[in-house]
Amino acid sequence: MTYIGRFAPSPSGPLHFGSLVSAVASYLDARHHNGRWLVRMDDIDPPREMPGAADDILKTLEQHGLEWDGEVLWQSTRTTAYRSALIQLQQTNLVYPCDCTRRDISNSGGVYNGHCRSHTPNPDTPLALRLKLYQLPTPFASLSDTIEFNDLLQGPQIQNLAQDVGDAVVMRKDGLFAYQLAVVLDDIAQGITHVIRGADLLPVTARQIRFFQLRDVTPPIYGHVPVVLGDDGRKLSKQNHAAALDKHLIRENLWQALAFLRQNPPEALSRESPATILSWGTRHWQRSALTGIAAQQL
Ligand code: GLU
Ligand code: ZN
Repeated sequence: MTYIGRFAPSPSGPLHFGSLVSAVASYLDARHHNGRWLVRMDDIDPPREMPGAADDILKTLEQHGLEWDGEVLWQSTRTTAYRSALIQLQQTNLVYPCDCTRRDISNSGGVYNGHCRSHTPNPDTPLALRLKLYQLPTPFASLSDTIEFNDLLQGPQIQNLAQDVGDAVVMRKDGLFAYQLAVVLDDIAQGITHVIRGADLLPVTARQIRFFQLRDVTPPIYGHVPVVLGDDGRKLSKQNHAAALDKHLIRENLWQALAFLRQNPPEALSRESPATILSWGTRHWQRSALTGIAAQQL
């Protein structure tokens, strides 16, 4: 079987330990299965970017010995492809304009209830475009409103797209493509077979699987690794200013990532080169060590 995996950082800040864990897990899972490992830069949201972060992330991956195959794919170069996919979705009657605000949605229970499916929005206000995910027109009408999938690490998952998710924004009111759609179009374009990433993305996986179905493409296999919680019990993230990785502690960072991923690296491995640490990790990679663990303190 061919295996193509990927790591897809957003350049909203430098790599922190939580993102290193995702990078190492997707790298080891791919290499253990003799797969290719790609890096994609999810630079689709300029307002949230930090200048210099994309280059810094790539350099940090290199310094940690995480060598990717082929060229980096930059989402910012993909707008023509996103636009043509959006037009195709519009032609199949799956897309509608929406003027609802965040407040409207939270007032109606937090999940978008499809209000603008049957209501013409005010054209003088900023409009988003939404994609129907459930109760679909032909030729998609036979797709169930419920998505079930078996996560490689977190086990069986089920979500009802009408009740738990709601129709998804595909173009934002500011005219930017929604990140969720771009990710799927890129995973399709790159032929990704396995998505190994942080469990914070488990809740968006069902809608992504629906996007694959609407493009008539078999979705990849998903495996969600535990998110890293800081001392305060909150997920390490750029938003809560997780510290950038210390570039003087490359070996220790890699060893810590293996330990966090419950791969039981021997103590002496932390003094070896990045290449040796990763090659040990590749040989010994055990998915089963992570079964059912969605979050874990550092
Ligand atoms: N770029 C996304 C993030 O940084 C990850 C996308 C993905 O792995 O599907 O959260
Ligand atoms: Zn609406």
